[in-house]
Amino acid sequence: MVPSLTRFASRLGGSWDAAERWLLPGECLVCQQRVGPQDHLICPVCRSRWLPVPTPQCDRCGQPVESGRACRVCPDWPAGFGAVSSAVWLDDAARRVVHLLKYRGWQRVADSLATRMVGLAAVRPGAVLVPIPLGRSRLKERGYNQSARIARALAGMAGARVDEGLLARVRETASQTALTPDQREANLRRAFAAAGPLPERIVLVDDVFTTGATLVSAAKSLLERGVAAVSAVTFARAELPLAAIGRMV
Ligand SMILES: [Zn+2]
Ligand SMILES: [Zn+2]
Repeated sequence: MVPSLTRFASRLGGSWDAAERWLLPGECLVCQQRVGPQDHLICPVCRSRWLPVPTPQCDRCGQPVESGRACRVCPDWPAGFGAVSSAVWLDDAARRVVHLLKYRGWQRVADSLATRMVGLAAVRPGAVLVPIPLGRSRLKERGYNQSARIARALAGMAGARVDEGLLARVRETASQTALTPDQREANLRRAFAAAGPLPERIVLVDDVFTTGATLVSAAKSLLERGVAAVSAVTFARAELPLAAIGRMV
């Protein structure tokens, strides 16, 4: 979908879901099978193709680990942060739907992703879900925050609540994809600011876990302001970039 249309549609607010339907009526966005007007934009068969994260996993960060080996991802994480868990493995099928949500304007894809995340242990009734915020210019460009859209869908399914006012992205950060782990860390330093009053426990929500750098940075801002425990859930878990593995061993 063209970005200008996405921007226009975001101004429509709630009626955007209906507009999505009108723009592509009756078909799964992946396989083009017929779906009903109230159904998910990704059909149950396509959703069933998303693979779970391989096991065994680290209890704290959720990263697949070799049996008996120590985790290389989370030893330096701040006390009070964890556990982090992801619903599916980021293979081509999962990457495609994240792309539809993030870059093609299909906000309602978040509902489909949330159906797989609702079983994660941290998503409990009464939990306070805080989506990873976007910077102001990226939010303006995209028209919506994909993580907030996922968090709202999750809250509705799990009886949790979303609070988007507790965390802000105060520094616009460059896109993370082409950066080395060291550059990611520098890029994210002081990127977030927490605003109170803050609850004791917070569950961060994001679309994809790659190195965990974004979640750690957000968690630090909350823990520094007195939150006792920060956990996190993401839809997908990416294979750890080779550069990150080299740095961690
Ligand atoms: Zn389908
Ligand atoms: Zn770990």
